[in-house]
Amino acid sequence: MMQPRMNFHAGHCNYECTICMNVCPSGAILPLTVEKKKLMQLGVAKFIKENCVVYADNTDCGACSEHCPTKAVNMVPYSNPVNKRLKIPEVKPEYCIGCGGCEHACRTKPYKAIYVDGNAGP
Ligand code: SF4
Ligand code: SF4
Ligand code: SF4
Repeated sequence: MMQPRMNFHAGHCNYECTICMNVCPSGAILPLTVEKKKLMQLGVAKFIKENCVVYADNTDCGACSEHCPTKAVNMVPYSNPVNKRLKIPEVKPEYCIGCGGCEHACRTKPYKAIYVDGNAGP
């Protein structure tokens, strides 16, 4: 209640932006430079294969990977029952900063096939 929260269905954290940190009057969101923010991990993306259209519909996608600013999501070859040349997401957690770009871009409904699992606070 009355605390900031990230809603990655509505949007995501822009890689180059630090506006909320610089306008927050109470220090609840600590000010960081853009370069420091880029190294700050808010959470880690989790991939749910069963929800992904590549697995469920044997069709191309890759929107999550295209929207990832750190290349933490890559599309890797996926052998499938219909023998199409498909690629499926693979997450490298160590590169993920939890910006939510992948979750916001993922088109699956009602459940996303990739979502950010937030890190615990200090
Ligand atoms: S740093 Fe991210 S969450 Fe904060 S205002 Fe910018 S885009 Fe929004
Ligand atoms: S949350 Fe998604 S888009 Fe953002 S860095 Fe992690 S894998 Fe990439
Ligand atoms: S955006 Fe969603 S549906 Fe598309 S490849 Fe990524 S996880 Fe799968």
